[in-house]
Amino acid sequence: MSNKPANRIQDLQYFGEYGGVNPSISDSATYTFLHAKTMLDTFEGHAEGCYLYSRHSSPSNLYLSEALSAMEFTETANVAASGMGAITSVFLQVCGAGDHIVSGRTIYGGTYAFLKNFAPKLNIATSFVDITSLEKVEAAIKPNTKMIYCEAESNPLLEIANLPELAKIAKKHNIKLVVDNTFTPLIFSAEKLGADITIHSLTKFINGTNDTVGGVVCGSTEFINSLRNVHDGAAMLLGPVMDSLRAASILKNLRTLHIRMKKHSENALYLAENFERDGLKVVYPGLKSHKNHELFKSMYNEEYGFGGIMTIDVGNLEKANELMELMQHENLGYLAVSLGFYKTLFSAPGTSTSSEIPIEEQKEMGLSSGIVRMSVGLDNDIDRTYRAMRKCMKQVGVL
Ligand code: PLP
Repeated sequence: MSNKPANRIQDLQYFGEYGGVNPSISDSATYTFLHAKTMLDTFEGHAEGCYLYSRHSSPSNLYLSEALSAMEFTETANVAASGMGAITSVFLQVCGAGDHIVSGRTIYGGTYAFLKNFAPKLNIATSFVDITSLEKVEAAIKPNTKMIYCEAESNPLLEIANLPELAKIAKKHNIKLVVDNTFTPLIFSAEKLGADITIHSLTKFINGTNDTVGGVVCGSTEFINSLRNVHDGAAMLLGPVMDSLRAASILKNLRTLHIRMKKHSENALYLAENFERDGLKVVYPGLKSHKNHELFKSMYNEEYGFGGIMTIDVGNLEKANELMELMQHENLGYLAVSLGFYKTLFSAPGTSTSSEIPIEEQKEMGLSSGIVRMSVGLDNDIDRTYRAMRKCMKQVGVL
């Protein structure tokens, strides 16, 4: 198999039931067995290639899982109904009552809220640390710590986790490194960089059309089988299962991910460089001014660039709101949460996706209320977009 993630997706060849160029969509919740004994074997996990019940696995979900594990260089994968369905299944599979997680503090607000407010109900504790400080990460590890959790590129501060070094720490303490790679599919091959488990919200770049939520956990056969185990598997028993129709449509979109990621990155770099030159406070890992620019370059698959997400800080929330409303009015994108869409999306993280994080903590981690997060779209003529955005910025007085 190729050493390049997009080639590995390209090389997957499927024939539909009637010779179709796309695999047939499985349309069943349950499956028949010709022999009762095979049903028992399937329950016990011994009947290779047999389907039991679609909460456990289904042909369409397996096709998508296979393609995502090919992309992430892992042995296998398991898709889920949402990114949160994937993330929480991993937490609950790896950790039980009395266990502890060391997590990056700048992570998606929903993940943060789960670890901060929900996991303690199950007696799972979390220490939130500055993931860019390897000393702080290691110092937070306790005898009951089961994993280091981080986003490869963090939301919304766009800090980059040093995956090879975090992997060394995890190995030393015999714990897992779990990486949410949602912002940087194809750009970072997390498993190659040392991650034990790689997670994506498929809702974002991978699907790319904002018509569904979805998630995936990529990892070893042993771990993924444990997630799906009928007796104690978190995915099987909590049931965040993706529907087959959705799996089929996401698989088709995955086939164009490499083209889209290149364009998202090209457009974001163009806007980031120009807005920085104009004097705006821009955070984008492709800029030399980004504190983890060199680290990013040491880890990335260069052809996909620095990703589609950038932030600008326009000083305060009022200005941020005014600017976003005007840009939406000028049809430059949508004032909406989420990312990885073909049109540009912008939101103010402090009052949206990171609003679960208390204001004092937002301040401490450098999340100012004037930050606008932009997921830059696939605009054909990005200079035209730049000029139109600049006009908006002048109009609201941030330039
Ligand atoms: N991880 C990251 C980095 C995200 O931005 C999101 C966004 O929602 C999630 C996970 C959760 O994924 P989902 O909305 O698909 O449940």
